[in-house]
Amino acid sequence: MMPITTDKSIYDKTGRLRFCSIDKFVSDICEGDHCFICGRHPSKVPFNREHVIPNWLLRNVNIHSGNIQLPNGRLHRYGSYTIPCCTECNTGLAEHFEKPISEAFGKGFSGLSALVEREGTERLFQWMALLFVKMHLKDKTLLQNPDTRLGRFYISDGYDWSTFHHMHCLARAHYSGAKIGKYVHGSMLFVEVGENSEDEFFDIATVSSAYTLYIRVKDIAIYTVFDDSGICLEAVEPVLSRITGVMNSAQARELAAELAAANIHLKNPPSFGTRSSNADGDDLEIIALPPEGNAEFFAKSNNAIGHIKRSVLGSFCQATADHTREEALELLGSNEYSFLFNSEGVFVTGGDKEDLQPVRSEWSAI
Ligand SMILES: [Zn+2]
Repeated sequence: MMPITTDKSIYDKTGRLRFCSIDKFVSDICEGDHCFICGRHPSKVPFNREHVIPNWLLRNVNIHSGNIQLPNGRLHRYGSYTIPCCTECNTGLAEHFEKPISEAFGKGFSGLSALVEREGTERLFQWMALLFVKMHLKDKTLLQNPDTRLGRFYISDGYDWSTFHHMHCLARAHYSGAKIGKYVHGSMLFVEVGENSEDEFFDIATVSSAYTLYIRVKDIAIYTVFDDSGICLEAVEPVLSRITGVMNSAQARELAAELAAANIHLKNPPSFGTRSSNADGDDLEIIALPPEGNAEFFAKSNNAIGHIKRSVLGSFCQATADHTREEALELLGSNEYSFLFNSEGVFVTGGDKEDLQPVRSEWSAI
């Protein structure tokens, strides 16, 4: 097989974009307005809007009129949280992802388990990549600050789009026909969580720098790290083994932060590419180039972990008998505050309603 160079896209004989190069992804899709799946321009094919959070999911949890919190802290209505997509690809996404996945989610955690048992996790892994890509593409239209007197700055201005290319390849694999090769599948975790009436039925959080996405729909929590070949799931085992009860919203988010933190500490991460047997893109396959030997981790930085925890969990910090909210945020920022475990490292039942004690997270270098 011949590797495809990263600066060259591949089309098949019918003109279908099989491999979208990094350059094309950045210039046409991230910086341009081409369809994020097929790469065609709005002047060539009809376009409509694709919901970033799928429509069926908004209905399922009845949050059409609710708001998502953006990376700049502002709120955006879910119902209008959309990006442009060509109508043909929009239909294709609905068929491949939204139809089977909405059916599974409609039956709660047991429905999702049945889907995984029936066909494995590949479709869900790619669906999570699709969500991740759509959320970041949306950020290019969202102002960092609506007060534009000092200039127009967008949430995506700080993104290095090329680093999202792997997630883009995953999100469009149903269209490109690319096979998901060995070790390409990242860490994925499905957890049944509490449906506490005080919690919202829906939650979503990304850690962009750690290529991690967490979503919760009613009693289903799904965690995905896209670029770690499954290593981070093993690394957080000491955390997972101590979760002995049903997690609430804050605790479920903290687990996402743990996975993300493990990923940014990975010293020798795998790299990814795409290969094909010929110039038409036949036998297209996304491949992983795993590191030689065991996974290695950098010495744990509590500030780096705390930074992630603060971004994911800051809104859950409340004043307690022991701390003001600001003190709790500061402790969270230095990884000395946990919603999951008390100071003895024991899982906190009742979660953020308890009077929490400072504790550091533990995960192993394997
Ligand atoms: Zn398209």
